Parts: sequence; structure tokens; C-alpha cells
Amino acid sequence: MHTDVIVVGAGPTGLMLACELALAGVRTRILERRAEPQRDSRALSLHPRSVELMDQRGLLDRFLPLGRTVPGWHFAGLPTHLDFSALDSRHGYTLFVAQARTEAILQERAIELGVEISRGHEVLGVRQDGEKVAVDTRVPGGGTETVHGRYAVGCDGGRSVVRQAAGIGFPGTDETLTGVLGDFTVVDPRPGALDAARSRGVIVAPLEGGLTRFVYLDPERMGVPSREPVTLEEFRASLTRITGSDCGVAGPRWLSRFGNATRLAESYRAGRLLLAGDAAHIHFPAAGQGLNTGLQDAMNLGWKLAAAVNGWAPPGLLDSYDAERRPVGRSVTENTEIQTLLAELTLITRYQRPAAALRALFDELLGMREVNRRLADQVSALGVHYPPADPDADPLVGRRIPDVGLSAAGSEATRVYELLARGRFALLAPAGGPALREAVGAGWGARVTAVTAATCDGHPDLDGVTEVLVRPDGHVAWATRTTDAGARGEERIRALTAWAGAPS
Ligand SMILES: Cc1cc2nc3c(=O)[nH]c(=O)nc-3n(C[C@H](O)[C@H](O)[C@H](O)COP(=O)(O)OP(=O)(O)OC[C@H]3O[C@@H](n4cnc5c(N)ncnc54)[C@H](O)[C@@H]3O)c2cc1C
Repeated sequence: MHTDVIVVGAGPTGLMLACELALAGVRTRILERRAEPQRDSRALSLHPRSVELMDQRGLLDRFLPLGRTVPGWHFAGLPTHLDFSALDSRHGYTLFVAQARTEAILQERAIELGVEISRGHEVLGVRQDGEKVAVDTRVPGGGTETVHGRYAVGCDGGRSVVRQAAGIGFPGTDETLTGVLGDFTVVDPRPGALDAARSRGVIVAPLEGGLTRFVYLDPERMGVPSREPVTLEEFRASLTRITGSDCGVAGPRWLSRFGNATRLAESYRAGRLLLAGDAAHIHFPAAGQGLNTGLQDAMNLGWKLAAAVNGWAPPGLLDSYDAERRPVGRSVTENTEIQTLLAELTLITRYQRPAAALRALFDELLGMREVNRRLADQVSALGVHYPPADPDADPLVGRRIPDVGLSAAGSEATRVYELLARGRFALLAPAGGPALREAVGAGWGARVTAVTAATCDGHPDLDGVTEVLVRPDGHVAWATRTTDAGARGEERIRALTAWAGAPS
């Protein structure tokens, strides 16, 4: 089969990206080094914006039965948690779902959409010229194959071969401390036995299959490099040191050490090679943001790269991926560095008064609604906003569209996110108005779902908005509040051309 886009890596980012590309009709092949899907899960959480993305693509029904929801998430391990339930979303919660489950759902979806997934294929190198890419791959049995395509995307994790082949720098800081995780089949069964561990800053979480996960930072072992394996004896000794008991842990299924090396790619694109997920940014897993950020990278890149492949991308659209997502990557890495510093400081100097006072102060600040909201907006990624080039653009532009209910003639959608299920633009007149389907006409009809909402639930962000163009990733491309039909029509044509390309 001819391939348009080669995605390197079948982690959550690569699978999500492949789904987005295939949804837009792009022939996509994933090359994955592992012969089998990963059984153990580093990540356990989907934060609100990722849950919204699954909702926008009609995938949420597959996730919800597998997970448990909690109304917020911790910040730097402080007792007062971020309150996601206060945020402006139908999905103001964290969904506890193991990374392996997320990958399985996305793989199932990718296969349904026709993505070819080649497991046991390790990418050794990537070359590009002005028109195509060639990906050299070791295939099962030990032979090699060169796979050709029009673009390649490195979703191949922190040590990305694609990033190196593209010559993209990965500046940042080396590991200075490490944490440890362990999944156990046996723990102390006495009621409340694990509460002491939790009260001493150890994360203890039930996993499916009767496993229990422990994650800790042990001040006496934080200097051990992440490449050094963890033994059960070490794990028990650390737990005993931190909590006064080894928590009865036995039957380890997975023990792992992870570090705080923090790096951000110098660019997310070099010609026909692009980067997403951990290939573009690595950091300490503070507040569980890595997988979530990778999914959101994929959602931003998918439709833009599909537009380039399908030949309608307006100038600059593909480059806007780097312009929009790299600042988000920078903000996530900084946020995790702040959390790591706070956790480290309070751990190392746990029994000293100034550190305890600092921790108490930060905890008190988190109790303030405005502070909590600001950090919750950031960690949930609901606050991600892509600033428009035009300073006079409507304040809605670049923000995520709220998922308001609607009732539109000729459309079965009952809320805005349902309009996005096919990965197209949505053009909406929230307060009724002109027949938008005719306005979009045949020229943009294949890329834009146009509805005239006879009723659209009120939402402060939409007050006074007469027409809005929503991008396939759920962010607002254009909005207007003018009631002058002629002016609005001209603005609409400019916006459609700028975002959805010239009419076909
Ligand atoms: C302890 C811990 C807890 C975490 N908890 C959370 C959490 O709760 N929430 C959260 O959002 N994030 C969390 N993370 C981070 C999260 O696990 C990662 O950010 C996420 O896995 C990144 O996904 P990815 O698809 O970009 O990369 P990966 O998951 O690293 O996937 C890369 C894929 O590429 C493949 N690959 C690599 N090289 C090649 C090659 N040369 N050829 C072919 N294939 C290749 C790999 O086999 C792999 O399948 C945690 C991380 C750790 C360490």
C-alpha cells in the first residue's frame, strides 16, 4: 500500500495521531519497535481536556466504563488538590484509566479507520528530500525495509530516532533526581494500613487486576540514576524509611525508576519530519501531564498534516503546529519543574520549620479559589489558548469552544462537540441567522459542517456571538459579533479561506 504519512511509535501519541490522519482520509502506517503492545502502564490519568477530545471524536463511551473519575488532581503532592469540578467543562474530572487501556482503545479505533500498524519494526534512520521521506526499518526476522511516504512523524518517545535524524536539538537539563514506582499483587490487607503511607507523601493507587501501585521519592535514594534497576529489597527499605512499614508489599509485577530530565525540542518540524509527544518534550511525571500533552499535540497536528497531504492547506497552516504547541510544551515542562522543586524541598527538609512553613503557605494558596483555578486550568489543559495573529480578533479566537447544547434544523447533533466527530470544521450561528449550509456551499462543503442553530444554550463566552468557525481540534478559528449580514459574509469568506483553504 502507498503510504502518505509514516508515524514512528505506537504509544498514545502515535496512535492518536494515526486516528486523526486516517479520519481525514490520509493513508497512514505506524512503525512500532515492540512486537506486542505494552502491558505495564506508566500513566494512569486522562485530564479534562483529553477527556473532551475523546468526547469530540465519539470515543468517550469506550473509555468511561474502564475508568473511575475523581474531581481533581494533586499539585506538587500538596494536601489541597486542584479542583477540576469548578472548571467550565462537562468533564471537570480526571479519568483514572491505565495507559495500556488508552493505547488499546486508540489502537482498536486506528484499525477500524484503516491504519496499518507494523509491530516489530524498529526505525533505524530517516531521510528526506523536498518531496518525500524514506524510513529505514529493521523488520521481524532481522531483515530491513525502507518505507516511503510524504511525511514522517516521530512519536517515538524521549530518545526519538526521528528527532535525531531530523537534526533537531533537544536542549534542557539532565536528571538530578529519581522517583520509584512499583505495582504489587500483595499489600498489607489491614484497613487503613496504607493510609500512613499516603500521609507521608507516597502515592498509593488501586489498579485493575487487583494490583496496587506505589510511587515515592525517597530522599536517601533520589540520587540513584534512573537506569539502575529497582529491587524488591530496595523498595521495602525505602517504604519502611518513609512510612515506618514496608506496607506488606509482595509479588511485584513491575518496578521502575524514573527521572526528572527536562527537555524541549528546538523545533517540532524540520521539512517533512515532525515531532509529537515525548519525542518533543520530556519532564518529571508531576501531576500526570505527559501522555495528556502528547494526545493534545496529536489533535493539533492531525488535521493540519492531513490538510497538507490532501492538498488544501492554506499557507503556514502546518507551521502553526510548532507555533501553537511548542509554547504549551514549554509551559508544561516549567510547571513540572516547579512542582518537582516544591516536592523535593519539602521532602528533603521535611522536619525543618522553614520548609514546613513553605509547604503550608503553598497549600494555603492552593485553597484560594483564583489560585486553584489558574493552576487547574493549566494542568487540566482547559486553559490552553492559541493566541491569534490578529490583535483585533474576537476574544473567543484561539480558545476551546464550549460544548453548549444546540438544536439545529437538519442536524442530529444535540451539542457542539457532536458536530466535531468527523474531524471537520464546524460553522455555527449560535443565535440562528443565515442558512450557513448554503453560505459554505459546495466549495467548502467537504471540509466544513455548517449548521444554523435554531437554539443554542446560553454560555457567557458566546453572548453576542453571531457566527463562529470551529477548527477540527475544537479551538475557535474565527468568531464575529456583527449583526450586519454583508460584513459577516465577507468576514466568513476570509476566515474560511484562511483556515479551510481555497474553495474546491
Ligand atoms: C512513572 C510515570 C508516571 C506517569 N504518569 C502519567 C500520568 O498519570 N499522566 C500522563 O499524562 N502522563 C504520565 N506519564 C508520562 C507518559 O507515560 C508519557 O508522557 C507518554 O507515554 C508519552 O507517550 P508517547 O506516545 O509520546 O511516547 P511513548 O509512550 O514513549 O511511546 C513511544 C513509542 O515509540 C516506540 N519506539 C521508540 N523508538 C522506536 C523506534 N526507533 N522505532 C519504532 N518504534 C519506536 C516505543 O516502543 C513506544 O511504543 C508518566 C510517566 C512516568 C515515567
